Amino acid sequence: MPDFEYDTSSKELISEVSSKLDQKYWRKVCQEKRFPSEYWDLLASSGLFGLLIGKKWGGMEKGIVDFSLAVQETSERFAGLGSYIFLSGALISRMISANGTEEQKEEFLPKLAEGKLKISIALSEEESGQNASAIKTTAIKSKDRYLITGTKAFVNNYDHADFLIVFAKTSLHEKSEKRSQGITMFLVPAKNNQQIRAQKLEKLGFYFVNNFNLELNEVEVDSSSMLGILGEAWHGVVQIFNMDRVATSASLVGTGKLAIRMASEWAKRREVFGKLIGTNQGIQLPLADAFAQLEAAENMTLKAASLCDKGKPFSNEASYALLASSTAAAAATDRALQTLGGHGYYEEYDVERYWRDVRVHRLHPISEELVLSLIAERSLGLPKSY
Ligand SMILES: Cc1cc2nc3c(=O)[nH]c(=O)nc-3n(C[C@H](O)[C@H](O)[C@H](O)COP(=O)(O)OP(=O)(O)OC[C@H]3O[C@@H](n4cnc5c(N)ncnc54)[C@H](O)[C@@H]3O)c2cc1C
Repeated sequence: MPDFEYDTSSKELISEVSSKLDQKYWRKVCQEKRFPSEYWDLLASSGLFGLLIGKKWGGMEKGIVDFSLAVQETSERFAGLGSYIFLSGALISRMISANGTEEQKEEFLPKLAEGKLKISIALSEEESGQNASAIKTTAIKSKDRYLITGTKAFVNNYDHADFLIVFAKTSLHEKSEKRSQGITMFLVPAKNNQQIRAQKLEKLGFYFVNNFNLELNEVEVDSSSMLGILGEAWHGVVQIFNMDRVATSASLVGTGKLAIRMASEWAKRREVFGKLIGTNQGIQLPLADAFAQLEAAENMTLKAASLCDKGKPFSNEASYALLASSTAAAAATDRALQTLGGHGYYEEYDVERYWRDVRVHRLHPISEELVLSLIAERSLGLPKSY
């Protein structure tokens, strides 16, 4: 076991939350395609949204190792990828702590710690795809205000968001030194904002989150709504996006382990041809293989998290962790479904949901191809291809 330093208090808090809700709860939430407000409220009342927030602001001031362990725990116990609600709710506070002014921290962090505020990210656009630096949304300055106009794609939880963090171009010079320069973040009120039109999207899984395409039509914000440095959004979020990859890996490992545990329990009970199916090596070995891959992914996730907490570079490890965990979770949920046989295909056995849900993380928050391109460039020294 690598030498990771962590305490188990956040994991224990998760156990408390988990004892109050179960897999049936998540099945119902996903069947109803609705926000899991009961889960959110339990996390809020246990203070878990403050996990990454400084004590000064009412948080627990923990690191990314503790955060990853807590995320994995909630996935593994019962939530599967529903842990995204916890992950994104807690991680958004890092965007504010790392980029906010003192006034913004005072306004947002205590409320975020108490789970009284929901903030969604509006970065992606239809035309730019994975090339986020090619976004077209603009924020034009007019006296001490900005007018934001453009479209945003696939935004999570817009229907519950109090604010959006909108990424927009504030410099229209084509020849910036770096292509990511000239993009700025703004905190935009989302509730009843008449300048935003939303279109809900239907999708394959991940039903505890609704997604929206947005049209922003001269959304007016005060200059004080700018988050971070003018034109330097990338500089402000690159580490947060790496942390997101680490926490996402933790949720994938947890979901994969949940599926494998369910499949193993099934294999110990299910009798066919006069014997338990779990006595067949054809059932055992693929489950063991999937479990070993998850263990390896977990170690890489904790390694990345530990480097992050020590203030060392961790972006390569975050990439390895995301690749390993998304591959391992896809294999694990597929093997779990196969082990349950025809039952695995039905909603009441839950694994079909995990199988559908984990697929998203080969595309989001960053696609598998882009992760591999980063590894090729940064770990192997091959030419940049994206
Ligand atoms: C469920 C879900 C939730 C999301 N939530 C949010 C959110 O809250 N906020 C937000 O801003 N965005 C969100 N996104 C957007 C997401 O982060 C991606 O930006 C988006 O899915 C990119 O999809 P695309 O179809 O535009 O991909 P494209 O960029 O069109 O890519 C299509 C394919 O081509 C590949 N490709 C592209 N370029 C290269 C290259 N150079 N080399 C090799 N392969 C390449 C890609 O890997 C991909 O496989 C979400 C997406 C999903 C699916």
